[in-house]
Amino acid sequence: MSSRVCVVGALHRDLVVRATRFPQPGETVPGEGFSLFVGGKGANQAVAAARLRGRVALVGALGDDEWGGVVRAALVAEGLDLVHVATVPRVHTGVGVITVVPGGENTIVVAPGADHAVTPADVERAAGAIAEADVLLVQGELRPETTLAAMEVARNSNTVVVYNAAPVTALPEGFLRHVDILVANRGEAVELLGEGAAVRDEGAQIGPAGLARRLASLGPERIVLTLGAEGALAFNGQELEHVEPFPVQAVDATGAGDAFAAGLIATLNAGADIHTALHEACRLGAQAVSQVGARPNTGA
Ligand code: ADP
Repeated sequence: MSSRVCVVGALHRDLVVRATRFPQPGETVPGEGFSLFVGGKGANQAVAAARLRGRVALVGALGDDEWGGVVRAALVAEGLDLVHVATVPRVHTGVGVITVVPGGENTIVVAPGADHAVTPADVERAAGAIAEADVLLVQGELRPETTLAAMEVARNSNTVVVYNAAPVTALPEGFLRHVDILVANRGEAVELLGEGAAVRDEGAQIGPAGLARRLASLGPERIVLTLGAEGALAFNGQELEHVEPFPVQAVDATGAGDAFAAGLIATLNAGADIHTALHEACRLGAQAVSQVGARPNTGA
């Protein structure tokens, strides 16, 4: 029997410009190229997981505009189950405006549009898809109360909850206690811990191991920290495991975290151990930074 992933998350049209450098406030710089992608962490992670390991259901919303139709068609072509992806009247499809400079660094502005029209009631309507799944994958782009509602359904149905804390937003009290596996990059880990206490420990900057230990105390059973070109670190409450990065030429950092999260859950869902899943996640994260645009490129 093939296992199943349910992703509750954001669906976007990504507009990606390449430039030699980021503009200063008030400045215009010439771009060097432009591409349109299907994006949003929900879409990116769902597509990547589907390409790796079959059955993926998506819960989210699109606007009733041209881009909503384009994104829907691209996701259908990837074989995703879109029964619980609504089209919301008089709202625009979520948009990501991304600038990438040489070396792969980026800035991103997101206009959530239909993403923020997804409510806990919509999640309740999709409860069957969440309960049926082995893994629920959620991120920080929907309203937190919507994500929390999805995690509560999963918890009541023995569906493993993987929360990718990207981007970090203000979370309701006790939110992280509903998380089985927390995936965050270093900056997100610091933000989740909040205030200066997280960054400074007796005058020294806290390393990834310290961050992982502190995050574990907030509730998740397992912490996975992504460390960019340094690979990743996992902590199960007792043991720390560092995973070496795959050496690549970084071209564009967009989508590395998405590829990593999708790789992790798809590999775990296929029955692999956490060690194997972390290696596969690092391989896919490295592959993503070696290509231009938010991954995976659906070609739409
Ligand atoms: P995010 O995109 O969320 O900021 P990271 O930059 O930490 O996340 O990247 C996610 C994962 O992708 C890392 O854990 C690593 O495995 C891989 N990765 C990212 N950048 C590189 C790089 N320059 N070289 C090799 N692997 C990388």
